[in-house]
Amino acid sequence: MKIVYGSRHYGHSGGMEMNKNRFVPMFEKPERMDQILARLKDVSFGELVEPDRHGLDAVHRIHDPDYVKFLQTAWDRWEKQVGAEGFAISHMFGMRGMDKKPGDSIYALLSYYTFDVCVPFVAGTWNAITDAVDATLTAQKIVQSGERSAFALCRPPGHHASQDLAGGYCYINNAAVAAQAFRDQGAARVAILDVDYHHGNGTQRIFYERSDVLYVSIHGRPEEEYPYLMGFADERGSGAGDGFNLNLPLPKGTQWKDYGPALETAIAAVKDYRPDVLVVSLGADAYKHDPVSAFALESEDFSKIGRMIAGMNLPTLFVMEGGYAVEALGINIVNALTGFSAPTKD
Ligand SMILES: [Zn+2]
Repeated sequence: MKIVYGSRHYGHSGGMEMNKNRFVPMFEKPERMDQILARLKDVSFGELVEPDRHGLDAVHRIHDPDYVKFLQTAWDRWEKQVGAEGFAISHMFGMRGMDKKPGDSIYALLSYYTFDVCVPFVAGTWNAITDAVDATLTAQKIVQSGERSAFALCRPPGHHASQDLAGGYCYINNAAVAAQAFRDQGAARVAILDVDYHHGNGTQRIFYERSDVLYVSIHGRPEEEYPYLMGFADERGSGAGDGFNLNLPLPKGTQWKDYGPALETAIAAVKDYRPDVLVVSLGADAYKHDPVSAFALESEDFSKIGRMIAGMNLPTLFVMEGGYAVEALGINIVNALTGFSAPTKD
């Protein structure tokens, strides 16, 4: 399997986030990639490929150009208006009755275009964002050109970001941009299977009214888990998209005995849809020791996830999402990939 990885993400580092009752260093950090690279090397899996540069056309197919401009300029604006110390995050959020289009104030822009305090901007953030989407589009091209699979190993992740909102470590929705690229290059139907522990509220919002992209997600119940306001089982899509969004929320503490059947349900829905191609939002934060999540999957369960996904026999693009138990992240992600790639016994 070709694995597309660029090193420009290292500069996206040094922010802080809210965790329960404390402000702490970001769990989403460069070391996550180092662990996965090290494990790939240890087990001699995959062929590393550098991302090609793609520009922003494919990004603008999903994201509002004004929003993309905000992402591109946020740090410079912050530096000029506030100062070069630390990192930029929003101090308030544009909510009901106070959501007018912002002017030039970086505070107003952050309030308008972000929905939580887990999307800091530092000097290297935009380079990391573009490297991640370039890696994803390069991997997309590999699958588009006929290979069975490819993996975009990238950060920051994407599935919480929607057309014009950043949050939950996510700025550009890499998986959504890739799904749209497949559509634009001839796929009639694209399925996105999201196995990150958290609901991909951004991906859901982007495709909620469309029937040409199916979104299926297994995640922690929003009654007790981020992003709290979305991810409920009764959200099935609307308008033309009615019936093309499937949420499978599960309670805290979920182990393989309950996760496996949910994944079977998800896979049945994907097969039923008969997509031309599959995009997997691959997070490993369903792992039992993940510091920001609460499922209880073992490392070997990620191999099973990979094997079950392979059983669909679809061209498959894996896009990196979450996973914050850094010491086990390499093992868990690589288990999913090797599980997918293992020869099937007939
Ligand atoms: Zn997650």
